[in-house]
Amino acid sequence: MLLLFGCQTNVNNTQNEYIKFVPKISDVAQLTLNYHFVPELSTERMLCLYGDIGNNGMISINEVYFPVQLNSTESYIFTKSCPLYYNKNFLLGTIHNHPNSNCIPSSFDVQERVKSWLYLNYTYNYTKRIIEGIVCGEVYNYYIVNV
Ligand SMILES: [Zn+2]
Repeated sequence: MLLLFGCQTNVNNTQNEYIKFVPKISDVAQLTLNYHFVPELSTERMLCLYGDIGNNGMISINEVYFPVQLNSTESYIFTKSCPLYYNKNFLLGTIHNHPNSNCIPSSFDVQERVKSWLYLNYTYNYTKRIIEGIVCGEVYNYYIVNV
C-alpha cells in the first residue's frame, strides 16, 4: 500500500475539516522529528506518528517511524504506507513538511488522505480521528482531521 501527500492548494476550512491541537510528545519522538525535518529541506518528507489517546482525550505521540519515501518534490510526497503498530504503539496519523507553504493542511492533504485512510481502515476504527502534523521551518502544527 502507498500513501500520497500533496500540497497544491490550501483549503479554506469553512467546514471545520480540521482542528488544531497540541499533543503530548515524547523526547525520543521529537528528537527523531527534528533529525528529519531540518528547516532547510527543499522537498517534502513524511513520517508516521504512533501513540495513544487517554481517557481525558489527551493525545500522546510516543514514537515516530520513517517509511520508505518513494518520490518527493516541494509540493508532494509519495511513500510506502505506515505500519499499523510500532513498538506497541498504535498508528495515530502522519506528519509531513511544507517547504514553501503555509503550516496548515492543504485540501489535498485533507481530502485525499482521509479517503485513503478510510480505504485502508487505518486508525479510524480505533481513534475515530486522524492526526495530521504539518512542519514548516521550525514550527510543528498538529491537526485532528474530521472523518
Ligand atoms: Zn501537505
